[in-house]
Amino acid sequence: MAKKPQIPKPEPRKSISREEWEALGVSLFGKNPRQWKFKCPACGYVASIEDYLRVGAPEGAFAFSCVGRWMKEARDAFTGKGEGPCNYSGGGLFSINPVQIQGRARPIFDFARDDAKQETEKKPIP
Ligand SMILES: [Zn+2]
Repeated sequence: MAKKPQIPKPEPRKSISREEWEALGVSLFGKNPRQWKFKCPACGYVASIEDYLRVGAPEGAFAFSCVGRWMKEARDAFTGKGEGPCNYSGGGLFSINPVQIQGRARPIFDFARDDAKQETEKKPIP
C-alpha cells in the first residue's frame, strides 16, 4: 500500500504591507536582511538569507522554498520523516507559505519568531 503524503495543515495566510513586514524583520533580527531568519512551513527548518546565499539558492527562492532544495541531505517535504531541511518548494503543487506581502505575487515563509526571541534573550546587555 502506498504511503499517503502528510501535508501539513496550512495556517491562515497573513496579509501584511511591505513597510510593516520590513519593520517586523528589523525588530526581530536587526537592520541587515541577510541575518533575517525564516521558518519553512513544511519542515520547520529555520534558515537565514545568509544560509540561502551559502548553499547557492537563487534570490527568488529566499523565504519561498526550503533551503534544503539546495542541500543533498534534505528530506522529502511531504513524505519524509525527521528533521528538516526538506525539499519543499513554494511554487510546487502544495503552496503553504503563510505570509502574503501586499503587492507581491507570491506568498512567502513567516519569520522564525521563536528563534529571534531566543537570540534576543542570549544577547548581553550593552
Ligand atoms: Zn523545509
